[in-house]
Amino acid sequence: MENVNINTSTSSSNLTIALVGNPNVGKSTVFNSLTGLNQHTGNWTGKTVTCAEGFYTYQNQQYRLIDLPGVYSLATHSPEEEVTRDFICFEKPHAIIVVCDATCLERNLNLVLQILELSKQVVLCVNLIDEAHKKKITIALDKLSSLLGIPVVATCAKKTTGLNELISQIHQLTHATFNSSPLKLQYPKPIEEALHQLIPLLKMLPNCTLPLRFFALKLLENDATFLSYLSELTCLSSYNSGLILESITLCQSQLSAQNISLDTLIDLITTTYIQTAEKIASEVVSYNESLTYDRDRLIDRFLIGKYTRFPIMLLLFSLILWLTIIGANYPSDLLFNFFAWLERPLTQLLLTIHTPNFILQLLVQGGYRVLTWVVSVMLPPMAIFFPLFTLLEDVGYLPRIAFNLDYPFKKCHACGKQALTMCMGLGCNAVGVEGCRIIDSPREQLIALLTNSFMPCNGRFPTLILLINLFFITQTFSFSSSVLSTLWLLLAIILSLVLTFLISWLLSKTLLKGLHSSFTLELPPYRKPQILQTLIRSLLDRTLNVLRRAIIMAFPTGLIIWLLANMTYHNQTLLHSLTTFLDPFASLFGLDGVILTAFILGIPANEIIFPIIIMTYMASGSLMTLDQSYEIKLLLVQNGWTLMTAICTFIFFLVHWPCSTTLLTIHKETKSLKWTLIAFLLPTITGLLICLIINQLSHFFNFF
Ligand code: GDP
Repeated sequence: MENVNINTSTSSSNLTIALVGNPNVGKSTVFNSLTGLNQHTGNWTGKTVTCAEGFYTYQNQQYRLIDLPGVYSLATHSPEEEVTRDFICFEKPHAIIVVCDATCLERNLNLVLQILELSKQVVLCVNLIDEAHKKKITIALDKLSSLLGIPVVATCAKKTTGLNELISQIHQLTHATFNSSPLKLQYPKPIEEALHQLIPLLKMLPNCTLPLRFFALKLLENDATFLSYLSELTCLSSYNSGLILESITLCQSQLSAQNISLDTLIDLITTTYIQTAEKIASEVVSYNESLTYDRDRLIDRFLIGKYTRFPIMLLLFSLILWLTIIGANYPSDLLFNFFAWLERPLTQLLLTIHTPNFILQLLVQGGYRVLTWVVSVMLPPMAIFFPLFTLLEDVGYLPRIAFNLDYPFKKCHACGKQALTMCMGLGCNAVGVEGCRIIDSPREQLIALLTNSFMPCNGRFPTLILLINLFFITQTFSFSSSVLSTLWLLLAIILSLVLTFLISWLLSKTLLKGLHSSFTLELPPYRKPQILQTLIRSLLDRTLNVLRRAIIMAFPTGLIIWLLANMTYHNQTLLHSLTTFLDPFASLFGLDGVILTAFILGIPANEIIFPIIIMTYMASGSLMTLDQSYEIKLLLVQNGWTLMTAICTFIFFLVHWPCSTTLLTIHKETKSLKWTLIAFLLPTITGLLICLIINQLSHFFNFF
């Protein structure tokens, strides 16, 4: 499609109609049906927001239809919202069609009310009416029209039903055969009083084309766009703006004397929209025994209920983690044994084809061992966790998590949608970082992006589970031990969550200062999960994908470690020199040189860090095969591991630099070396700091 800059000037015979609505309400379908192929898309000058322009003719009148970006509000927290608001304010379309989703009218009315503040020339298009009928939702259209004071048309854009009526209403509105008198919103008394003082002054401004109530509100909010519009108007007309500016300051101080700060003012205005939308919806929408709807509301009373949401969230997560832990133990050991057994015939085979001893050892003790380690430790937990998590996603629970965590995120001046990107991060941080695009505000997007790797990805889970089983609980393979392991893992995730909140808050107070934005998150209906499809999809898409990445990294890393462990310089192996060099620094943090070396070499993928630790100890130790977990513990203890080493390694595993794929994705998303470096440093410094404090405290108080 052709990419053009939309020319906002229009020929006098054309009437410009703006098409506005929330995302996914059928706006493009209405647009396509009305304009047919007579359209092109374009970018707004200076913005990356795309929009489309098209034409249609009705009763010999040509109409120019502008499809504005889908938005939930005009609060201008995102470029889309800014483009939409500014188009309506400054380009002055002859009429506006607001498209709404009939199945969730209340949420859509929020935007309608904001648009009514800006224009009288509005037609409400209640689309997806067929879906509403299916869900047994009835909307009293006449009553809605009289409450809002504008024409309302029900449509099913997919089948073009109601579109004729829509364009006929537009025609009447633009040809002054229908006079609408839109609902005038009533704000709380102190705001109304301030408006009462300001509006008469604004009335005296020549050439002001904005609705005065709206203009006054924006000036009270100190909105930069409208303050500069004010100075433009006053400059042009050499009108003394001092009086207006003084009056704004006076009104603001009167408001603040009544405890209404600028933030509270914006909150009160938003609340007025929400409460009015709620009231109108309650009067015009009726739900006739829709079983699914009632069922969903009932489930939501628990899943997003004030007192039940957090316990249920913890329980569900615990269940998934517990199933992962008990399910992974046995297949993991089976795989260990199988690969250990396979090593012998493989070696035999290589000997039979006369492989030189050096190559044989490099391949078997280097590449093969790290590779099989990764598969044995990673595959079982991933194959259990991913499908379970995907099921939760399919049922429709993930948006509810975002809803539940919205309040704490708001407190950190971040966005509730960050919870969704964190959930994605539990699978893979690179995916989580990419997912941050769903957050509209660039500031909040950056916060989510920088903190995503505080969530342990699936590549880290298996090692965390292994460390818990080896060091934090006494017996293995019993019900109580699996519950204990689950609690440990849950504690680790809660720590990650707390750190995410803390760092998000710190960022919003320092590098990324600002207020949280409002957002509307659609809570989709609960769906029956398609279990078989989910299993196959998550196994193929996610598990095998992550495993493939780990394997690609594991084999060459195994070779490198073996080479480092066997190449000598000044009678010392390179690996030994590197680990001894790092030892003093690492021991400050309760780690050792081998562990830190493994973290550095494991930057390509978290999955390979623990295998590197094992391989490095084995290269210098006496044990040559490891087919049982207790042998791993023995190897670690022989190499000086204490409970403190395990705790610090566990914490550093949870919080350290993002893997190279995630770093690359962060760079791709931010296009900035500075932010990529900050994304690297934030978890690294946090992890090291926690380890340092714990380790030094343990020395001080003589723990462990
Ligand atoms: P936009 O994001 O608002 O532009 O929404 P789209 O026009 O892309 O529509 C979103 C989805 O809703 C598409 O799959 C459309 O086919 C579908 N859709 C649009 N209008 C209707 C309608 O009236 N009824 C039904 N059942 N589906 C619709």
